[in-house]
Amino acid sequence: MRTKRNASPRKFGFSLIVSMCLSLGACAQKTVEATKTPQPSDQTSAAPATNSNASVDYGPAPSFNSARSMQYVKEIVAFGPRPLGSANHKKVEDYIVSHLKGDDVESDVFTADTPQGKFPVHNIIAKYPGNRDGIIVIASHYDTNYPLRDTKYVGANDGGSSSALLLEIANQLRGRKREGYSVWLVWDDAEESMQLPWVDSESLYGVNHLVQKWRSDGSLKKFKAFLLADMVGDADLNIERDQDSTPWLEDLVGQAATRLGHQSHFFARTIFVKDDHSPFMQEGVPCADLIDFDYGYGNVFWHTPADTVDKLSPKSLEIVGSVILETVQMLDKK
Ligand SMILES: [Zn+2]
Repeated sequence: MRTKRNASPRKFGFSLIVSMCLSLGACAQKTVEATKTPQPSDQTSAAPATNSNASVDYGPAPSFNSARSMQYVKEIVAFGPRPLGSANHKKVEDYIVSHLKGDDVESDVFTADTPQGKFPVHNIIAKYPGNRDGIIVIASHYDTNYPLRDTKYVGANDGGSSSALLLEIANQLRGRKREGYSVWLVWDDAEESMQLPWVDSESLYGVNHLVQKWRSDGSLKKFKAFLLADMVGDADLNIERDQDSTPWLEDLVGQAATRLGHQSHFFARTIFVKDDHSPFMQEGVPCADLIDFDYGYGNVFWHTPADTVDKLSPKSLEIVGSVILETVQMLDKK
């Protein structure tokens, strides 16, 4: 991950939004902006924006195997750093695909021409059909930072947690036609910037390629929602409300969290995050970035060798995974 512009604790009726760089000077902007942020009116605002869906039957609460998803994180991390072009990267590609046996899996492979050279990029897409016309995409990047390739940085939370989460979601979707929209799981590649601090034009290669591909083959028009998971394993889980996401879809995520009793882990802060969803936002696809950008006090573990499995909790994976699945069920009925 990516750039963050703003942080605004919700407890203020309106917030002075101050752009700031958190760790490692790793955010791209140092400008200071003052903005009135439209805030939910009070602390109940993680609750549904409307209660109109309160009585709708969305089916049973989703199941999510937290222990198994945590095991996936450990196995991904055990390969070591997985920057573009590395042997470890190839091993993780193979690892993900090996867990999708029997599924409808598509590889989107291309060469990214970056200022650091040409690199193979491999997006992995698994498709689970539904009986309703339309597609919900759930995405995670799996690469680690190229500039950190010679450190012990393994991205347990950043790239590891969300990729493992998608593998477990695949387990829940596999083997039956959905009563609802088709779901595509996307393990996208080359999210991380080829330079630090983050450079917009040297990042998000994988999703930018997917946007072009899906614009030309007509898939984009069928997308009902793009749900992104990133840095979702922190034991101290606080999913942000993101201003570069679609408000109604963020509201729906908040409703899903509330329905499952997980609302205290959602939307205490409002930030602006540029991430894998951003190119889809520009195409008009409804997006929600589920990200906890406060990883250790002051985000101190982010993009450091301290981003290790011991900071994570299977409970956090279960919370985010089940909220995503609940959001999908709510979208199915929308
Ligand atoms: Zn990152």
